Amino acid sequence: MSQSKNNIQDVDWSIRYPENWAEISWKCRESTNFRCCLCRSEATQTHHALYTYRDGKVIADFRGIGSYLFPLCDDCHEIAHHPFNYRKDSKNPVLGNKNSPRFYKLLREGWLDKKRKVQKMTQKD
Ligand SMILES: [Zn+2]
Repeated sequence: MSQSKNNIQDVDWSIRYPENWAEISWKCRESTNFRCCLCRSEATQTHHALYTYRDGKVIADFRGIGSYLFPLCDDCHEIAHHPFNYRKDSKNPVLGNKNSPRFYKLLREGWLDKKRKVQKMTQKD
């Protein structure tokens, strides 16, 4: 780690968001028909439950939708980042933070449930 990276303001946060992030985020929210995974509100944001795959690659890509990227409303996004549900990694603040396993399960199950509802809706003629 270089000396300058010790200062939080010098940390490069942009790696979390690739150039096509707007498209990824839109696709993510579209996957639940713009519903929040955790409640009935409109999904206005895309939440990172973690930032890297096991291989260390940044998860902000289309593969991450529903596995590590989840559509949430503003309120649930705040809850997702609450210290009770979210673990901060002070040694790697850019890519080390993640949700607790318990909260991750809620996100994943909520997403699967909303996704099933969207599929049912689109199957009807
Ligand atoms: Zn919500």
